[in-house]
Amino acid sequence: MKIFNTKQEIKRYLSAQKKENKTIGFVPTMGALHKGHLSLIKKAAKKNELVVVSIFVNPTQFDNNEDLIKYPKSIEIDTHLLESVSCDVLFIPSVKEIYENNISSEKFDFEGLEHQMEGKYRKEHFNGVGTIVKTLFEIVAPNKAYFGQKDFQQLQIIKKMVKKHRLNIKIKGCRIYREEDGLAMSSRNIRLSKEHRAAAPFIYKTLKKVRKNYTPDNITKLTDWVNNQFKKHPLLDLEYFTIAEEKTLETPKSKESNKKNRAFIAVFAGNIRLIDNIRLKND
Ligand code: AMP
Repeated sequence: MKIFNTKQEIKRYLSAQKKENKTIGFVPTMGALHKGHLSLIKKAAKKNELVVVSIFVNPTQFDNNEDLIKYPKSIEIDTHLLESVSCDVLFIPSVKEIYENNISSEKFDFEGLEHQMEGKYRKEHFNGVGTIVKTLFEIVAPNKAYFGQKDFQQLQIIKKMVKKHRLNIKIKGCRIYREEDGLAMSSRNIRLSKEHRAAAPFIYKTLKKVRKNYTPDNITKLTDWVNNQFKKHPLLDLEYFTIAEEKTLETPKSKESNKKNRAFIAVFAGNIRLIDNIRLKND
């Protein structure tokens, strides 16, 4: 596995690889890798000749400075993990390498997607995400890029960005990897206290009950039910629960809607913020 820290070095290496017509699959991450990340990498390896992974904790997408400072970092363990899977190139730039002396984000118009859910609670988050992903896409210029459905809104926003900017990159959404007890894998899980870690599977359990009881005409009732479940919970604080259409991320208006819907949730377990989502069936 080749490791690069500068744009210039990785670009030079990849341009030589592209001259040999190798296809590139790219997996951007913020490190503290877990099996969810590795599943994206394995998927990329199946469909591309070269797999590039980046590890960069992007300051402009954090709205909470403590969350940024305390974001788990484990570069050595990550490097070993990546060597054990099919990662060919690892890019670990510094903040200075990416932002030089101007740590700020570009403004994007994602046609409304950015104002839903996470966008309501994490100001500037998606401008930060758009800025870093666009920059990394310019550096790596992959054929395909792999993103988890765990961050479903992010996935839709990246798809929108690629379409709007006419980038020649295929965006692949990958299913959510979970712990045995159902908790969606996340780098932040290791920061949970013992008590909060034990309580956290309640999030997915609630989502599964929503899926079981969902019909297009009981969205309000289900939303109230979820709100009540969390009001009663001693350790978990609900930030939002919403049922939304996959494409627009808006709450479905028509009861007869045959569009694909999902339930989305954000919960605080102590001061750790966890998100999750589940696909709903219309029949
Ligand atoms: P992060 O390092 O949290 O920025 O995540 C990097 C990529 O891995 C993103 O595309 C995430 O959506 C994806 N990812 C994170 N957690 C999971 C998971 N549990 N299952 C599948 N993909 C995930």
